[in-house]
Amino acid sequence: MTIQIYNTLSRRKEVFRPIEENKVKMYVCGPTVYNYIHIGNARPAIVFDTVRKYFEFRGYEVNFVSNFTDVDDKLIKAANELGVDVPTVAQRFIDAYHEDVSALGCSRADVHPRVTESIDIIIEFIETLIEKDYAYESGGDVYYKTRSFEGYGKLSHQSIDELRSGARIEVGEKKQDALDFVLWKAAKEGEIYWDSPWGKGRPGWHIECSAMAKKFLGETIDIHAGGQDLSFPHHENEIAQSEALTGQTFANYWMHNGYINIDNEKMSKSLGNFVLVHDIIKHYDPQLIRFFMLSVHYRHPINYSEELLNQTKNGLDRLRTSFANLNHRLQSSTNLTSTNEEWLAKIASFRKDFIEAMDDDFNTANAISVLFELSKQANYYLQERNTAEVVIKAFLKEFETLFGVLGLTLAEDQLLDEEIEALIEKRIQARKNRDFALSDQIRDELKAKNIILEDTPQGTRWKRG
Ligand SMILES: [Zn+2]
Repeated sequence: MTIQIYNTLSRRKEVFRPIEENKVKMYVCGPTVYNYIHIGNARPAIVFDTVRKYFEFRGYEVNFVSNFTDVDDKLIKAANELGVDVPTVAQRFIDAYHEDVSALGCSRADVHPRVTESIDIIIEFIETLIEKDYAYESGGDVYYKTRSFEGYGKLSHQSIDELRSGARIEVGEKKQDALDFVLWKAAKEGEIYWDSPWGKGRPGWHIECSAMAKKFLGETIDIHAGGQDLSFPHHENEIAQSEALTGQTFANYWMHNGYINIDNEKMSKSLGNFVLVHDIIKHYDPQLIRFFMLSVHYRHPINYSEELLNQTKNGLDRLRTSFANLNHRLQSSTNLTSTNEEWLAKIASFRKDFIEAMDDDFNTANAISVLFELSKQANYYLQERNTAEVVIKAFLKEFETLFGVLGLTLAEDQLLDEEIEALIEKRIQARKNRDFALSDQIRDELKAKNIILEDTPQGTRWKRG
């Protein structure tokens, strides 16, 4: 069996063939950290974390890179509004991002590169593009010569001429052609800047991903992923930059997750239906949000509403109840039944069905149907008077494994007070030892269970969120 991926580039499902055997080099465009993430940002985080976990489950070693855009116009604006500098805003929302996605069951990337830490490689990248005549300087800005890249439009399936008809040069832009895009922006008075061969300025948005992917994953990567809204122009521009520079294919597979609507409307600031993950996980189990997202195929649009979330909760509860009942029965099970082999074979068949669903372009919706079927069979088995420990254990293991692949936990998400106190004590010790990674991890762990910590001069206080 092989994994098939829908590739935006070819617009069809393709068999996944890694560059290096059993390895996956994966780059996912990360957030611009000027605010808490909204539910639309949560979708790619959950979806591509699941893709990663599934590859790992299938025996691949995944190198997962996801960037933080920690300087841009929105950050500069947010910093001005808050009366702090840009790095302070960025750090605040990078921390918040880690907390939120960790609560949603997402693992940290192997590397989370930041623009402000990558300025040298970005400048070097731009210099080479200028040398190769794919870019030019104009009044302190540097632009990419879009028309000089032959494959432009191949990801979004548009021709240069179609694109040209819709493009125009905005006031203040110093580009030669309406399709050219900015690689380096000259700093305005009072703005954060870095010195460059073209004067004081900062990178444009698209160039960071090309430079970071090359640095951390190499010239050609297996999978490049992000939200559907990024396919044009962001990903198209990334291809133009990277392939012009290296002469190699930038990414073999392009994956894009579908849009998210709120109560059947497009999410927008003006409609006031902006849903922040930070807020919803105060009221809902973050695991439920993950389960909800995965109950729809990642390429389909998803509609978010509290009503749908509550309906989904019934499903998740059903699965958890089966698991709890199995655990409960474990105590009273014996090893004497005649139908063990039959049941063990049946349980093993669920693994096969699950893999089949996930191999087919990560069809988590079908994979979750397999979980419901597993739960149904478990409930059926539990009606038998004599149950065998070996069968109950097989059911439990299957639940745990398959839930784990989807990044879901089965235990009721309730920590006892004394468990919370013990974790807080462990965190205090970690901080005394200046082990901030452990201290952050404990805080994230508690956050994931809806426990909010507050560090006060009198010590750490906690409350249930
Ligand atoms: Zn990107």
